[in-house]
Amino acid sequence: MAFVIVKPKRDKSLLRCHPWVFSGAVAKTRGQLQPGDTVDVVTPQGNWLGRGAYSPRSQICVRIWTFDEDEAIEAPFFHRRIERAAANRRELVERQQLTGYRLVNAESDGLPGVIIDRYGDYLVCQFLTLGAEVWKDTIVQQLQALMPVAGIYERSDSPVRDKEGLPRQTSVLAGNAPPATIEFHEGALRFWVDVHNGHKTGFYLDQRDNRRQMNGHADAAEVLNCFAYTGGFGVAALKAGARRVTNVDLSAAALDLSQRNILLNDLNPDQVEHVEADVFKQLRYYRDAARRFDLIVLDPPKFADSRAQVSRASRGYKDINLLAIKLLREGGYLFTFSCSGLIEPELFQKIVADAALDAGREVQIVRRLNQAADHLTALNFPEGHYLKGLLCRVW
Ligand code: SAH
Repeated sequence: MAFVIVKPKRDKSLLRCHPWVFSGAVAKTRGQLQPGDTVDVVTPQGNWLGRGAYSPRSQICVRIWTFDEDEAIEAPFFHRRIERAAANRRELVERQQLTGYRLVNAESDGLPGVIIDRYGDYLVCQFLTLGAEVWKDTIVQQLQALMPVAGIYERSDSPVRDKEGLPRQTSVLAGNAPPATIEFHEGALRFWVDVHNGHKTGFYLDQRDNRRQMNGHADAAEVLNCFAYTGGFGVAALKAGARRVTNVDLSAAALDLSQRNILLNDLNPDQVEHVEADVFKQLRYYRDAARRFDLIVLDPPKFADSRAQVSRASRGYKDINLLAIKLLREGGYLFTFSCSGLIEPELFQKIVADAALDAGREVQIVRRLNQAADHLTALNFPEGHYLKGLLCRVW
């Protein structure tokens, strides 16, 4: 067995079971070590800390698979982790009647770099790290044994693979290739997902709990759904009784699927408008045209990829929140989100508070919003909590 020896005093995060070893924390390696190999991480004194996947090209040069010295990293390990992840979601899936949900949420399910989403009869995976890539075939075999599906497809075309020295790729890993669009259900809501061309694995499953919050807030409302993508919030709003929904997005393909999602749910397309536009410009257009709405959703893409981008991202969030708050009728609702992990909930709240102040409106937090329950966060991996939002009432 090869070893990675961490520098003195750089064992603290590992002793707290945080699964990442940064290259700057490594003193030296010992033994024959190939990229992707399983390696034991030890202190300078030789005390065992954890066992993980070695990825020398990445700034995170080891991702810990296990903190149990007796646990071997072989097929049964992956079987146990996937089985536990599936068991963990069984009750949720039944209670909420989900045929689309996240089955494995990477580090938070003890499988760094491995994302597995289920859509109907298909599993769509992302293998984002070298360790995940090396064990891909084993993971696919365990998935086939645990849950027979029509096909297992890989969307490992995320840019984060570049940091690991891995090519971006998509492929059919088992069974049939998924059709161009797959239908799945979230309780009473039905959606089409394009797992071939959609973002990530195709759908924002992480917003499920927040879609449900449309109930009780969207009744008879005129809704503006910004960064609508394939219209998840728009469908939920109409189902919750909205009078009119305007979906705004830059992507024509996403809006086409949103249109199809309206029809799939037997909703009236006459109540929906699709606007292919830049939200930053469209909000200003509505401001200048004195348009008003009862409910606005702001669910932008990640604005901050690195710490250096946080202040620019903050200005972006403030800009759209300020414009949206001004467009709301008295007593209207703002659903505002940030999926940038680097924007902490406290900072996000402060940005929205600054926007409210500049807008000259009184704003209350009705509810704090988070990623859905199948996107759980391991306590030893706080980075796993990336999606935060506020449901605000605007006076
Ligand atoms: N709310 C969506 C997910 C949003 S993902 C859902 O619940 O499914 C972010 C979306 O923002 C993407 O669809 C992307 O096309 C769109 N987008 C990114 N920048 C944009 C901009 N400046 N104006 C409009 N849409 C934008």
